[in-house]
Amino acid sequence: MTAQPLIAGNWKMNGSTAQAKALAGDLAARAKGAAGPLPRIALCPPAGLISTVAAAVAGSVVAVGAQDCHAKEKGAHTGDTSAVLLKDLGCTYVIVGHSERRADHGETNEAVRTKAEAALAAGLTPIICVGETEAERDAGKAADVVRSQVSGSVPAKSTAANTVIAYEPVWAIGTGRTPTPDDVKAMHAVARETYGKAHADGADLAILYGGSVKGSNAATLLAVAGVDGALVGGASLDAADFWTIIINAPKR
Ligand code: PEP
Repeated sequence: MTAQPLIAGNWKMNGSTAQAKALAGDLAARAKGAAGPLPRIALCPPAGLISTVAAAVAGSVVAVGAQDCHAKEKGAHTGDTSAVLLKDLGCTYVIVGHSERRADHGETNEAVRTKAEAALAAGLTPIICVGETEAERDAGKAADVVRSQVSGSVPAKSTAANTVIAYEPVWAIGTGRTPTPDDVKAMHAVARETYGKAHADGADLAILYGGSVKGSNAATLLAVAGVDGALVGGASLDAADFWTIIINAPKR
């Protein structure tokens, strides 16, 4: 079955409890009042705001996600959060392997895969991020990078029902720059083909595009063949702009 589109907001390290209540509450109210069919919607606040957001969206279709998890269930890992606890806090999704974590915390494909495995074991849907840097694109290596990230970061146990991939070219994140629709289409095809070599349900997997998606370019980017939604950073901090992205999600 073709994946239901997903629009996920990554708040990164932004927000206070008051801002989280207002933003998540605004979005939940928009979702409750929506006339037509909606995509899956998720908000991924900083870990300290998960409970606040979960309370604000309760009773709506808006789901909650986290931005990272530890690969282990528990133990001496100061400052980290287990997937099991995220589930307990009300999360449905967890982003793993975001390029900012790959860069800031040296996360390798193997580290990302073990986190995604922990997410699956806890009953969470990992949103596994892949994408090339500008230097890699300029060197003609974008497809190779994404191939090795997908094959190295996606667990063998992943299926289209329990996993999402986000293709996020690093040079497009937070920069206002986006790839052309043809480039997005080509890179999504690379990610889907690579996933499909190790998994039987490649055609059904949700693959999101991420990188400077906003209300004004959502219709174009979300209409690209093979794009099943978006992972949105900056624009997810503005309820009206995020809502414009949501209503431009593919209808399936
Ligand atoms: C992201 O953080 O995953 C992202 C895509 O950020 P932005 O939308 O701000 O480029």
